[in-house]
Amino acid sequence: MPKIPGKARTMTPKTTTKKLQSRAPKKTFSVLERNILMSKGVSEVQLEKIVKNGIRGREDFRAVGDAATLAVLADLPPDTAARVMAWALGLENIVVESADLVRCMYCGTKQPKDYKSGDLCVSCGKQAEPIMACFWCGSTGPGKFCRRCGAEFVPTGELELAILLKRDGLPKGDIPEKLRGMSQADKDVLWGRARRY
Ligand SMILES: [Zn+2]
Ligand SMILES: [Zn+2]
Repeated sequence: MPKIPGKARTMTPKTTTKKLQSRAPKKTFSVLERNILMSKGVSEVQLEKIVKNGIRGREDFRAVGDAATLAVLADLPPDTAARVMAWALGLENIVVESADLVRCMYCGTKQPKDYKSGDLCVSCGKQAEPIMACFWCGSTGPGKFCRRCGAEFVPTGELELAILLKRDGLPKGDIPEKLRGMSQADKDVLWGRARRY
């Protein structure tokens, strides 16, 4: 069972946000855009690199063109770059609260307007979205983000690793990205520790 985090840990995400806002250069991403970029796994340092390369708004990513170029420019892992480009070019649905645009994970059928998270697919009858468990607050739900605390869900098979990283004191927003960046060997070491609990 995850322990209840101490006060110092729960403060971390707040301080990070504050730092970001006060350091924002003149013409740059809005707070919303920044938060979206962070949710795609972009770190503060990487965000600075993006800005340094003259990308200061969502539309500037169009000039970059593709994820591979962005990865080189901003020193991003390829999967993070791909997520950012998908968002910037409008290739994915970033809707978190509204479920208008949910597609069935089994058959890809777009669900109707009145679809609610947890509904069965209108086409194949299976649970359209997987139900994920949140490594941070322990609640469960469909989608990419926890509706209670906003954490990005990690793959179910890596839930224990994420909980361990939380115990290590990593901020909520960093853990999914950290897991994505880890090699199998790194994960094996972590699994060794996870099994001791
Ligand atoms: Zn389906
Ligand atoms: Zn949560």
